[in-house]
Amino acid sequence: MANSRYDVVVVGAGPAGLAAAAAASSFGCDVVLMDAAERPGGQYWRHPPGRLDAVADLQHDRRTFRSLLSVIRSRVTYLPRHDVWTVVRADRGFDVHAVAEDSAVVVSGSALVLAPGGYDRQVPFPGWDLPGVFSAGGAQALLKGHQVTAGRRVAVGGTGPFLLPVAAGLAARGVTVVGVFEANSTLGWIRHLPSVVRTPNKIAEGVGYAAALARRRIGFHARHAIVEAHGEARVRGVTVARLDGDWRALPGSRRTVACDAVAVGWGFLPRIELPLALGCATHVDADGSLVASVDERQATTVPGVFVAGEAGGVGGAALALIEGDIAGRAAAAWVGRPVTWPARLRRRRRTYRAFATAMHRACPVCSWPVRRAESAEPRWLWSRAASPDARPRPGSGARSAGRPCCGGAVVPTRPSPPPCTARTRCGTAGEAGCGRTPSCAVARRSRHQPSSTPSAGSAPRTPARSSCSAAPGWAGARAGYAATPPGC
Ligand SMILES: Cc1cc2nc3c(=O)[nH]c(=O)nc-3n(C[C@H](O)[C@H](O)[C@H](O)COP(=O)(O)OP(=O)(O)OC[C@H]3O[C@@H](n4cnc5c(N)ncnc54)[C@H](O)[C@@H]3O)c2cc1C
Repeated sequence: MANSRYDVVVVGAGPAGLAAAAAASSFGCDVVLMDAAERPGGQYWRHPPGRLDAVADLQHDRRTFRSLLSVIRSRVTYLPRHDVWTVVRADRGFDVHAVAEDSAVVVSGSALVLAPGGYDRQVPFPGWDLPGVFSAGGAQALLKGHQVTAGRRVAVGGTGPFLLPVAAGLAARGVTVVGVFEANSTLGWIRHLPSVVRTPNKIAEGVGYAAALARRRIGFHARHAIVEAHGEARVRGVTVARLDGDWRALPGSRRTVACDAVAVGWGFLPRIELPLALGCATHVDADGSLVASVDERQATTVPGVFVAGEAGGVGGAALALIEGDIAGRAAAAWVGRPVTWPARLRRRRRTYRAFATAMHRACPVCSWPVRRAESAEPRWLWSRAASPDARPRPGSGARSAGRPCCGGAVVPTRPSPPPCTARTRCGTAGEAGCGRTPSCAVARRSRHQPSSTPSAGSAPRTPARSSCSAAPGWAGARAGYAATPPGC
């Protein structure tokens, strides 16, 4: 199929995109839902082919997923395996360019909802590129999508609540989790109690995970980090250390823990290539990431373009669902349908956004390059990073040092490595990655050799889907330390 026209085009079939497509179609819109993945559900409802029940114990809110799926099947044109590489303004709306199999496809719409989600934030540390070192999201995707565990003895580290489901999920599949190492203090939550108590379901979820870890006697170590991974052909152990408030390893606190895999999660970064391609305004969110700016109806600064889910600010699946619902309604209104606006939607959006902000502030990713810029003898945790690329270059100086950002989080001045454009497929058994990002390098060295880039099809300017260097910020990273995102 090529060159079709719809009222509303939705990109991304995760919680946000599914909710948007369902909402827009419920007001009589002709909706198309495009997603690069083979199956709907995004990261949250990732599941093995045709076997949602196989991972029932690892998922939440499957009833919502099933009901969204039944709406999508009955009222929406769903195009899986359609990797959208750009969107452009056109006469009567927007043209969405995708690569599907080996063909170029253009789908047009009067309104556009972008719900492309996010990707793992990665922070380099010595040994991070060893086979067996996974991002937390990658380990989780392996488990949910393929029922493959990252290893037999896994160390989980980083910061944020996502570490809990990762550890609990691995343990539920028989993995020995040697510890969860949370770099921040758990007391950070207490400062944000008013926002946290308004989302009792989140509290219940957290308590459930904590109980699962306790039942299996998995140690949760706050103010601890995995500071080094050891091994030659693959990871054989990690050094963990206790941290002070500035994330410096406390003298004498280092110890080695044997493991055959590591899952490290520093939160997520929004995927904003498509909003940027259209010229949508952005701002820096509470976690220091650049996000698409939206109003209370999820409208961007480009008329007719709406953003929902992580791309407008990392906030989890519950918030993505609400934002998707609002964006779908707003898109329907944009194309002239009479739309209702239940007050509960905006109320819940506010509540979950406040929870997300609290989460970001309680679990900031500290200023990893700051100490280097301040001192010739760096004291910072990862100051002896193995990669020469990770060291400041002459002239990068204090100007480019991480600075306290909105909300007190400190923005890393060197952007995270780019996402693999094959998304979480890097490092996953049997699937291809782009082969160029650090996570793909891990995959390669693990003998999950990413396949070569597929042909881009007939459109002469269609990029191959693995053009990693096109990821925003990466060119800056390769050139040295990039500027701190605007707004800080
Ligand atoms: C690797 C990973 C694993 C995660 N696992 C969990 C988990 O187990 N539990 C949890 O609570 N949270 C998890 N998260 C966080 C989770 O992404 C969000 O909380 C939630 O899924 C956000 O919903 P969303 O709809 O905004 O994005 P997503 O669920 O990420 O959905 C985005 C969808 O857009 C598609 N897409 C992106 N770009 C394009 C493009 N250019 N063309 C076509 N399609 C595109 C993707 O294929 C995906 O299906 C994970 C995040 C990541 C990055």
